[in-house]
Amino acid sequence: MKHKIHNFQKIIAICFAFCSLIQCQNYLWPVKAEKALTAVFAEERPGRYHTGIDIRTFGEIGYPLQAIENGYVSRIQTSSKKYGKTLYLTLEDGNTVVYAHLDHFTPEIDNLVSALHQYYGKFSIDHYLKKNEYKFTKGDLIGYSGDTGGVSGPHLHFEIRDKNQQPLNPFNVGLSIPDNIPPVINSMAIIPLHKNSKINGISEEQIFKVKKINETEFIIMDTINVQGSIGLAVNAFDKITNQEFNFGIYGIEVHQDEEIVYSMKYDNMKWIDSKELYTEKNYSLARKGKGKYYHLFTRHGNESLSFINDNSKNKLMINENTFSNISIKVFDHAGNTSFLKLVLHNGLVQKNNNYSISFNKNNCLIKFDSKEKISPIFHLNNKLDKHYRKHVNHITLEHNLFKIENINYPTNIIEISTISKSGLKSMPTFSMENNNHEKTIGKISLKHYEHGIFIIFEEKIPSTKEMTLILKQNDQLHSHAMERKSAFQHYSQIFSPNDLKNVSEISVHSNEINMTEIFKTNLHGKIVYPDSMFNFSLLDNELIIKGDKNTFHDTTFIWANLIDVPKPKIGTLIGKAYQIQPRLIPYEKEIQLEINISKDYFPNHASIYYYNEKKNTWHYMPSSFNADSTHLITKILSGEIFAIINETQPPKFSNLIPEINGTYFASDVKHISFTIEDQFSGIDAEEDIIIELDGKRVIFEYNSYQKKIRYPLKYRLNVGKHKLYIKAKDRVGNISIKQGNFIIK
Ligand SMILES: [Zn+2]
Repeated sequence: MKHKIHNFQKIIAICFAFCSLIQCQNYLWPVKAEKALTAVFAEERPGRYHTGIDIRTFGEIGYPLQAIENGYVSRIQTSSKKYGKTLYLTLEDGNTVVYAHLDHFTPEIDNLVSALHQYYGKFSIDHYLKKNEYKFTKGDLIGYSGDTGGVSGPHLHFEIRDKNQQPLNPFNVGLSIPDNIPPVINSMAIIPLHKNSKINGISEEQIFKVKKINETEFIIMDTINVQGSIGLAVNAFDKITNQEFNFGIYGIEVHQDEEIVYSMKYDNMKWIDSKELYTEKNYSLARKGKGKYYHLFTRHGNESLSFINDNSKNKLMINENTFSNISIKVFDHAGNTSFLKLVLHNGLVQKNNNYSISFNKNNCLIKFDSKEKISPIFHLNNKLDKHYRKHVNHITLEHNLFKIENINYPTNIIEISTISKSGLKSMPTFSMENNNHEKTIGKISLKHYEHGIFIIFEEKIPSTKEMTLILKQNDQLHSHAMERKSAFQHYSQIFSPNDLKNVSEISVHSNEINMTEIFKTNLHGKIVYPDSMFNFSLLDNELIIKGDKNTFHDTTFIWANLIDVPKPKIGTLIGKAYQIQPRLIPYEKEIQLEINISKDYFPNHASIYYYNEKKNTWHYMPSSFNADSTHLITKILSGEIFAIINETQPPKFSNLIPEINGTYFASDVKHISFTIEDQFSGIDAEEDIIIELDGKRVIFEYNSYQKKIRYPLKYRLNVGKHKLYIKAKDRVGNISIKQGNFIIK
């Protein structure tokens, strides 16, 4: 009997816990249509988190939207930017729900909005309403979905916020979508967190492929050798039943040998959390185009993020000469879970250079000098394609003597590693037939990570030469050994930013008797410290760089170089293009960049633009002149290519209704509308467009996605002549005007 009571109490306790967890609301789905999503809560957006869900409207506008619960309209916004037309409904339970990018509201709210536009004298409004002024009952129509504001296509952006207006995960508070598909784990990365950290012998971040065992289990086949403090990161996404997109995951839990070392769950968020986005997501891998990786460790004190468990650790350490089992659990909101398992080992990874190699026509013989039996692995690399790497089988001729056949140009670079008894792979070495009669060419680049800087020399066509790096520092030359890390690349040791203080020149020399100089470049950079502001010029005053304290978490090297870029299709490049670095470290604050503009050329429509190398496109940056007009100033939040461009093309009007000199019946002219396009700098906002009808300025709607202007006439036009005046200005001040009369008959 006692036992039964105990069970009963347990059931009540479980019920209670369950209800309090999901708060037991039962909201309606906000769109009167089948449940379809394009994005979930907390997905990454450029520089921020997605604070709601995106409900799919299948490329169309005009889906009816409904009140998900009883409430009143507490706020209305209209704008050509961000959320566009937005309705805020405060519910009886105190939560506020946000419907964004609407096409229009109900006729009653639309009338209120028109009145508010007149009251504020503009289209961009953000108006708070009194409690219970406009009430809605659960299921009432509240408006229609659309594509207003900053959108990439029609959809409903929907948010649920708590009493303090902080975003909640809608799937935690009464909305749900059926889902029985587990998340997919794509790959894992290991991030070195210290100068001395190494992953398989390398101090640079490494990506590992995962192998799918079944629907929910993934593994990394090879044991990974790590030294020093490291962090794991995972690239994963969720799939939802009957939904065709990839979605963000809901939570992660990481176990190291049965101990939880990291966990997070996107239950809620604070608006300030977006500032910490790149402590939770990996920045350098994203900048290299490798995808979005969730950090599985806390960074720079981001335990304060509302969704990260406070007990999470800021690094992973493996004891010397031991193995550690890692299990990464990734789950979605419906509780579907996937696991990634891997083994880490702490031990020294070395190169096995102890062999001799001889080429004979298309074959090659490799002889290891060792009493112990060697297990080698060979790969072929391509001299003309740095992404080519293929495993090649070998023949064992005798003890530690191996033969590879069919080696043909250009896949004739042999990559050699060995596997130890415990299954650990050595670092690769590279061999090819001597071709040192060819001139070695290549280029130097710097890779600045949070844990240090590498100087890399990449050969255009791989040689067999070994290289030495020489830094000119305070007019003295210092040489550093370089190591071939791949068929094409020679890496320096890892430097601290302070190691590059006053380095003015970098050169690479081949290790031949006379140390031939292969490549030389000037270095223009300065070191900035987190506890100080900075203000310095580079490249003979062509650039001025200013920044605040704590722009970076650690001491950082900022440098710039000239770079050749293709000319913009529209507009004229003025002066040179500059590459500002670092680009692999997130900027916590904007940096002020000033670019010199030559005195003899004073363009009227100039601005700084940044160049997207991948898309070969230039993008406008808000710019202004400094006090003595020697430099154009902009604010930057990442290392990019920047240049000054002068653009003189004014915006273009089309599809104007009513047409200038046209004749219409009054009943046919219900609105003034046209399309407006500006190809290069673009139009910033509706404030840059003016419409006057019969000498009176009207307040119109601007849909920046469709590039359409629309002014619904408030009254029937009188018979006779009417005057229309339209003016539009692009971001660099090019103006288009259209004016004239039309007739109402
Ligand atoms: Zn959205």
